[in-house]
Amino acid sequence: MWDAVVIGSGIGGLASAAALGKRGKRVLLLEQHSVAGGQTQTFRRQGWEFATGVHYVGGVGPHPGAEGQFGRLLAWLSDGALQFAPCANPYDIVRLPGFEFGIPHPEHAYRAALLQRFPREASAIDRWFQACHEARVAAFTLMAMHSMPALLAAGVRLLRGKAAEAWAHHTVAQELARIADPQLRAVLGARWGDHGAPPVSAPMVEHALVTGSYDAGAYYPIGGPARFAQTLLPAVLAGGGTCRLGADVRRILVEDGHACGVEVVQNSEVTVERARQVISDIGVVNTLACLPEGVAPRWQEETQRLQPGLTFVALYIGLEGDIAAAGASSANHWIYEQADVDRVWTRPADEDAPGLFVSFPSLKDPSWQGPPTAEVLALVDHEAFAPWLQPAQGGADSAVADDYGAFKDWVGERLLAQFGRHFPALAPLVRFHEVATPRTQQRFTRTPSGAMYGLEMTGERLGSHAVNLRTPVRGLLLAGQDVAGPGVQAAFMTGLLAAAAVDMGIWRELGR
Ligand SMILES: Cc1cc2nc3c(=O)[nH]c(=O)nc-3n(C[C@H](O)[C@H](O)[C@H](O)COP(=O)(O)OP(=O)(O)OC[C@H]3O[C@@H](n4cnc5c(N)ncnc54)[C@H](O)[C@@H]3O)c2cc1C
Repeated sequence: MWDAVVIGSGIGGLASAAALGKRGKRVLLLEQHSVAGGQTQTFRRQGWEFATGVHYVGGVGPHPGAEGQFGRLLAWLSDGALQFAPCANPYDIVRLPGFEFGIPHPEHAYRAALLQRFPREASAIDRWFQACHEARVAAFTLMAMHSMPALLAAGVRLLRGKAAEAWAHHTVAQELARIADPQLRAVLGARWGDHGAPPVSAPMVEHALVTGSYDAGAYYPIGGPARFAQTLLPAVLAGGGTCRLGADVRRILVEDGHACGVEVVQNSEVTVERARQVISDIGVVNTLACLPEGVAPRWQEETQRLQPGLTFVALYIGLEGDIAAAGASSANHWIYEQADVDRVWTRPADEDAPGLFVSFPSLKDPSWQGPPTAEVLALVDHEAFAPWLQPAQGGADSAVADDYGAFKDWVGERLLAQFGRHFPALAPLVRFHEVATPRTQQRFTRTPSGAMYGLEMTGERLGSHAVNLRTPVRGLLLAGQDVAGPGVQAAFMTGLLAAAAVDMGIWRELGR
């Protein structure tokens, strides 16, 4: 009998398992993939090392209060082993045809840079930041409503729920419509890839929360994102727990309405693991797919109203030589082919990606030993890859039609050519490239339809009870990005809050 079984070793699952381990609880952490870490995992090809789902994080700098809390909590769980290096400042660079703008931190520097570039828009800039502040307060209210015990959540809903839900339904495009200058609108709306919904549908709440998380600085883990798992797993082991890789949870066992364990398939062998608590970090859709039929029908029904979010194509590039001298830096580039930053890539077979996110991780990590790398992302509609995606959620990988390889290569060549046009001095230094598609994402992390950040980011999702940390099944808690929204920091916090729901002593640590 384990104190807790945690399904999925993404940052949410790692946080839960490590926090409970720190409190002396025996935790079994189960991961279907052969590598721990979920979207914080990295992989190596011929000496080049690539990260899958981390380009920068906020909240880990030497700041007091909420601005440095993520870092302090990580330091507690990792015994100080996890360290971060600051990225360049400006840390995000927005590029449109004939126009470029670097976004610096802290917020007052960003504001000043905007005012200098768009002096006629002073009052619109003020209004935008005011809206961001209010939306961020609403975001924290919504997060509290999703993660607190029912009675407290109801209290928060009563006091502040109405205003928070109004913000949840207010889109970024609605707020941008109050701004006259199209270039200013583009700069403010450009970074929607950080939460995965274009301005036309993205809740202002999420935009403010995610972009605001970099106001106190953008950082990269020293040693790469794989350090999250490497430094958090020792706490699990110290508590008498363990992490099993290649362990595919097929069923969550429910007896008398109480989750009491899981059925796991590992090396074709089925075993049952019993536990007092089950914490699921595999997303709400996958979690429901593991429940016995007929359990929590209203939860099932409410979840069916939520759709998977956009997915992405990633191009991993191995380079040789001095990439800094050729124009690369530790800042991220948000590149748009047209002034319209709203467009999603819907026809990768026939058109270039309307927008690219480009990052150079080897320049972000001061401990980097290997040859330099670049990572390119383009958000894409999963319909474009529908023939090669698994229809059922939560299923193990299956064979893929022959035409997948050719399509994947074609999309890769297209993205590489696009990258070369934007970074002509880097193009001759390219020695290797590999593409990941929505199918890759689905295979390695099991997100529905290969979604980049789990469920679609909408006002409805933010107000839905389906993504509450405490589920209608007693003993079953949810952690991860479906609960709090995308991002390593948000998913991590849900993991800690799930652990705190199991062991009240963890609440004290949250005050760090
Ligand atoms: C391309 C990309 C770039 C990103 N960039 C950033 C960034 O720069 N900064 C940032 O903060 N965030 C970024 N994110 C988002 C961030 O990585 C995620 O929001 C966060 O890591 C999600 O963590 P999680 O704990 O919810 O779950 P995940 O990381 O999705 O982990 C879930 C785990 O559960 C496992 N699993 C699924 N089903 C089962 C099963 N049945 N049995 C056992 N195990 C199972 C999966 O294999 C996976 O390991 C990015 C994401 C992507 C995809």
